[in-house]
Amino acid sequence: MVKAEAVHKSFGAVDVLKGIDLEVKSGEVFCIVGPSGSGKSTFLRCINHLEKINAGRLYVDGTLVGYREKNGKLYELRDREVAEQRRDIGMVFQRFNLFPHMTALENVAEAPVQVKRVPKSKARERARELLERVGLGDKTDSHPAQLSGGQQQRVAIARALAMDPKLMLFDEPTSALDPELVGEVLDVMRDLARDGMTMIVVTHEMGFAREVGDSLVFMDGGVVVESGAPRDVLGDPQHERTKEFLSKVL
Ligand code: ATP
Ligand code: MG
Repeated sequence: MVKAEAVHKSFGAVDVLKGIDLEVKSGEVFCIVGPSGSGKSTFLRCINHLEKINAGRLYVDGTLVGYREKNGKLYELRDREVAEQRRDIGMVFQRFNLFPHMTALENVAEAPVQVKRVPKSKARERARELLERVGLGDKTDSHPAQLSGGQQQRVAIARALAMDPKLMLFDEPTSALDPELVGEVLDVMRDLARDGMTMIVVTHEMGFAREVGDSLVFMDGGVVVESGAPRDVLGDPQHERTKEFLSKVL
């Protein structure tokens, strides 16, 4: 579903991604762990072309992200084409970024109506189903300010799902939550995984990674230091840097 080949990204003189190679299979939960500043968020942002890569190739579902290749040369896609690619990729951030003036239901129904031209009644019906799926069937009319952080994050997940993404990107979705609210969000993600959604999850929740993850990479300094089954990498790390990181977070 996602393939990265020697992906490089720099900001000015700072090399943030120094050649990332990885492959995420369809239906897989792919976890990314690593210290602050290692490039995890930057890599996720490259996947939906919020950041342009400087070298290498990035594919989603077999299609080059952000570019068209012709006779070995790359041509940048137009904004409209990029937007089309992005439509199929759901993203959930640490901060929920819900529209504050809209109800939960309106938040979830908004993009399908605006972007996909789904009829309003249909979008609202689907939004109701999705909110039920994330355990918020009774909160459809609440505004974000009336919801807990965990509930807001579940609305954000429902909102991403409303676009029928083929891939979901999660960037530390539980890091901003009070500890007692983390579980309800992870439960929703676990359900999603069980339903076969392809997910890339940047997380510090090693328990979740071990239990739900199919693959895991440890990133440090803009490279993948170590990768494999979560049980192996977390349980029996081979590299010094991985060991050191895990000794701090486990
Ligand atoms: P964290 O765990 O703290 O979220 P991360 O692994 O997600 O860290 P990134 O946010 O990808 O790390 O940042 C990697 C490096 O890139 C950092 O040194 C950061 O300062 C730098 N960086 C990220 N975005 C930009 C930007 N827009 N302009 C300049 N530097 C940036
Ligand atoms: Mg980050």
